[in-house]
This record gives sequence, structure tokens and C-alpha cells, in this order.
Amino acid sequence: MAKTKQFKTESQKLLHLMINSIYTHKEIFLRELISNASDAIDKRHYLALTNAELMTDYSILIELDEKKRLLTITDNGIGFTEEELVSNLGTIARSGSKEFKEGIDNADIEIIGQFGVGFYSAFMVAKKVTVISKSVNSEKAFKWVSTGSATYTISDADKEDAGTIITLELRDNDEENEENYDEYVTEYKIKDLVKKYSDYVRYPIQMDVTKYDYPEDKKKEPIVYKELDTLNSLIPLWKKNKTEITEEEYTEFYKHQFNDYTEPLKVIHTKVEGATTYTSLLFIPKKAPFDLYSEKYEKGLQLYSRGVFIMDKNKDLIPDYFRFVKGLVDSSDLSLNLSREMLQKDKQLKKIASTIEKKIKSELEKMQKNDREQYNEFYKIYGINLKYGMYEGYGINKELLQDLIMFKTTKSDDYVTLKEYVEKIQKDQKHIYYATGKTKETILALPQMDLLKEKDYEVLLFLDDIDEFMINILMKYEDLDFKSVAQGDLDLIDKSENKKLDKLNKEKSSLLEALKEGLEDKVSEVKLSKRLKDSPVCLVSGEGLTMEMEKVLQNMPTGQDAKATKILEINPNHDLFKTLEKVYENDAEKVKEYAKILYNQALLIEGIPLDNPVEFSNLMVKLIIESNK
Ligand code: ADP
Repeated sequence: MAKTKQFKTESQKLLHLMINSIYTHKEIFLRELISNASDAIDKRHYLALTNAELMTDYSILIELDEKKRLLTITDNGIGFTEEELVSNLGTIARSGSKEFKEGIDNADIEIIGQFGVGFYSAFMVAKKVTVISKSVNSEKAFKWVSTGSATYTISDADKEDAGTIITLELRDNDEENEENYDEYVTEYKIKDLVKKYSDYVRYPIQMDVTKYDYPEDKKKEPIVYKELDTLNSLIPLWKKNKTEITEEEYTEFYKHQFNDYTEPLKVIHTKVEGATTYTSLLFIPKKAPFDLYSEKYEKGLQLYSRGVFIMDKNKDLIPDYFRFVKGLVDSSDLSLNLSREMLQKDKQLKKIASTIEKKIKSELEKMQKNDREQYNEFYKIYGINLKYGMYEGYGINKELLQDLIMFKTTKSDDYVTLKEYVEKIQKDQKHIYYATGKTKETILALPQMDLLKEKDYEVLLFLDDIDEFMINILMKYEDLDFKSVAQGDLDLIDKSENKKLDKLNKEKSSLLEALKEGLEDKVSEVKLSKRLKDSPVCLVSGEGLTMEMEKVLQNMPTGQDAKATKILEINPNHDLFKTLEKVYENDAEKVKEYAKILYNQALLIEGIPLDNPVEFSNLMVKLIIESNK
């Protein structure tokens, strides 16, 4: 007896859209159903690797009945159990379907079509869809029927072998709306569609095709008969010669194989022969997958052995920092019977992974050199991955990645590589300088930039949280070390001036000591600055953690209590310093109050929250009153 069930809400919405669509690409339904069939065979084949009984001659059969307007697609894949019919066809099951579900409410079928609409696309051309299926895991077969309304039915069915038969009863032609579905039961159209969308499918897609035998006697009529023919070329795209593959073919393949609706930013197709022989076809998506930075994102490449699918996301084939790369590897050196555990240890696979890593790197370098515009586009989206890659594992990948990293600088709004920075370095410049901040403008306004601006040194802008952490791992580039404009000695002034300042520091030590006392334990030192020119004071970090790193760490969910040591620097050439000296002579206590004001101001410039804003405000008010007495 047939059981009637309701579709899930989203599915109902989608069905409604499908049925009422004026979608111009209705024909993609065939591609969707063939891909499903091919996936189902993949799944069966995977099981067959460890259960020989399941092995069979795989195929996808298309049958047409022009009179009854029926189109049937039969596969001998894994099949559906009763529960699977309910859960997979009663609801949208797509794994990457979050955006898609959100998209439904906008009711734009063109957009939805771009996602690859799967099974439901059948309803764009069919008024009734029947699925008869037997799972390899079940003794019984079942029949699922729906007219695309709110419900579907499930009943028992007769079917000898495992697999699935999907029958579409075409919709009636609607002359008024110029909708005609007749062609979907014609041989030529189906042949055409298979070539266009499904040529790369690895299993034979077969159909009874009309053939003509022409007798030698030209006057005689040809003999017409039907013969089972394979419609697809069966050569997987990646096995074809690169020169024979068009850009469209790559794009079409990518979109469908990896569920994307935009063409890829970059295609990397490589054939390697030698100690390990393999082909890899890799894609860099134009848009980062929406969940790329979530824990749920699974990196990995599809793995094939001699054109036969082994597994979907092999993590070991791609390093974390290239996790955004999608694609596949097909090797003739892998044994088909490898279990997942064995794969992990497989030496061949490790070698492949390492050449793939190098290949991606070299392709990116080429892009950086030859097509900077494209590389910039790439870097904007994925640069952060490379930076994390540099930071991870205490820098084991730094050699590999350091030339792919780029920064904007105080002199360039375009990204600059470290190599380019070093090439343009000033003659007397001994370090690579960087400044951390939110924008170029805030960085240029920093008091710590005074002398660097005067010397016209280029300063790397560190705008991402990770930047400083990463550079601490990199440490040097071409023998030049990295210097934060806000930490330690900037090495900007010459020896004699240096000496003079050291001397002055000693002479003024009691004043500086008094200032420090006023700040209690907030700073480790108060000293005369070697980096300020026009600005009166600034805060800099001592050894180790910088203040910017402190900010990042304190914002982490784990709430790390990391503290940078802070040094308050005073500009000895500024009027402020002379004033402080005068005040100190008359009233040593007063200087301590001023120290607090100066310290808080320096904090404000750094964008660090004040420890005690009320105290600061009171001190300022007091100062205004006193100065006007
Ligand atoms: P998608 O294929 O994108 O997951 P579909 O709506 O096309 O979404 O299919 C839903 C699910 O139904 C598939 O994920 C698969 O598990 C199952 N399925 C579809 N077609 C077949 C088939 N011919 N044989 C076995 N299972 C299938």
C-alpha cells in the first residue's frame, strides 16, 4: 500500500519554483540526473572494493518513449533504501546548501539554477516523476512517486538488481507560453545534451540509437535499425590533452564537480610522469567557500586511481594553507584496495602531495610575476591563509611562502612583495620597518613614524591581526631583520647623536625617575626618545610581545592575559620636555601628575583603552583650572 508523505517546507518552495519556472536552462535536468547516477555508481564501486559481490558492469541507461512522452534513466549504482528515499528526496539534501536555502526566498530561479539544483530539476520538465530503487543494502525495492505538489507517495516495488530507475513523464506543451518539451524524448537532443554536459562522466551513458546501413546499391533504401550506443567519450576531462580542452570545458567541469556557480580564478592542470605518475586538476575558486574559515570546512582533493573514483576529500594531498584549492588527483600508482588508513601512510601519496604543494606555489609565483592583477585578486581573498601558513608549525613553511606574501606600504597602495621592498630600500637603511594599525592613515599619524617619514623610509603596513605574529616567525628576509616602528631601538640616528642622547638620558635621570614613579608599575621605563621628531611623547613596547599583539591576544575568546612591557618615550627636543624640567625644579610631585596625563594620551594614540578614564578626566580638568588661575 502506498504511503503519502509531505515534502519539507524548503523542498516545497523549491518544487514550486521549479514547476513555475520560466528558467531558460531547463535542459540541465539531464545533467543533474546523470551526475546523481554517476555518484551512485561511485558509491557502489567504493563498497565493491571491499565486497567483490557488488562489482558489476556499471552503466547509465537512457530510454525514450516518444509516444508516451517518457524519459527513463536507469543506473546500477548504490540505490536508495526506503529511508533514503524519504530523507534524500523528501528534503533538500545538498551538503553545501545553506546559501542555497537562503537563496530560495529570493525566488530567482536563475540564481538557484547556478547552484546545481539536483534531483528536483526533473520537475522543470516533468509533470510526474517515478523513482524505483533497490539499495545494495536492502532486500526490498521501493517506488517513490510525485507530481511535484506538496506530497509524494512511497510503496513497495519489484526490482531484481540494485540500482535506480527514474522515469519522467514530460509536461504538456504550452503553446501560449511557447513551452515545448517534445525534444526531451528525441534522440538527437539527448545525444546533444550528454555531449554538452556529461561527456566527462566516467561510466558509459547508453541509449538505443537509430542507425542506418547504406547498401552498395545506391538506389536501395538504407536499412534502419536500433543499437545500444555509448553517448559519452568516457575519457575523464583530466585525461584529455591540455591543448584539446577549452576554457568552457574546464569551467563547466569545475562548476559541476565542485558545486560552485562561478568560474574558477585559476585552473592548474598537470601531468607528471616518472617515479610517481599522476595527473592533477586543481582549481582556485574565485570566491572563498563561505565556510572556509569555519571549523566545519573540510579541505582535500578527490582521489582517483586510473580514472576510477576512490575518495572525495583526501586531506593529506593538500597543506592547510592551500586549503582553498579544490580539485582531484588521478594516479596509476595507487592500489585500488587501499583503505583510508593505509592511504594516510602511503609513500606515493606523500610524494604526490609534496609535488602538488610545490606546483601550486610555483603557479602562484608565476601569476604574481606575470599577472599581478590576478594575483592581487587572489591575494585579497586568500592572502590571510598564506600568512597563517607561515605562522603555523613554528615557520617550517616560511621558505616556501615568504615570497608569496605581500603588504601595502606607506608608499604604495598596491601590494608589495618583500623582494620588491628590499629592492627599493634606501642606501642607509638597515632594517625592514613595519607599523601595525587599522589603516594607512592612522599609521601615518603615529608619533613613532616621525623620523621614518623624515628619512623617507618605506614602512610595511601591518593591517591584519596575524601580521606581527607571522613576522616574528619569519624574523629575517634576505639578511635584513624586521623592526616594528613601535618597539626597541629603531637604529635611525647616527653614532654621535646617539651618544649625546645617552648622555642626556643619564643627566636627566632623576626627572625621568620621577616620571616613572608617577606611573607606578604601568611602564617599565621612561626615557628620552630616539625616534620622535615633532611629537612630544609616545609609548613603545619593550622586548617580546608588542602592544598590538597584546590587543590581539586579549581579544581572543580564551582571554589570554598577555601583557606587553611598555616604555614611555619623551621627545627631548620638544617644548614639553623643557616645561617638564621647569616644573620638576619647583614641584617634584606635580611632575608625577603630568606623567599620568602624558601616559594616558600616549595610550589614546595607540588605541589602547585607558585603565582609569575618570582619573584622567579629573587630571585634565584640574590642569585647565590651574593654568588659568
Ligand atoms: P545532491 O545530489 O546535490 O546531493 P540531489 O537532490 O540531486 O542532491 O539528490 C539528493 C540525494 O539523493 C543525493 O545526495 C543522493 O544521496 C541521493 N540520490 C540521488 N540520485 C540518486 C541515484 N540515482 N541513486 C542513488 N542515490 C541517489
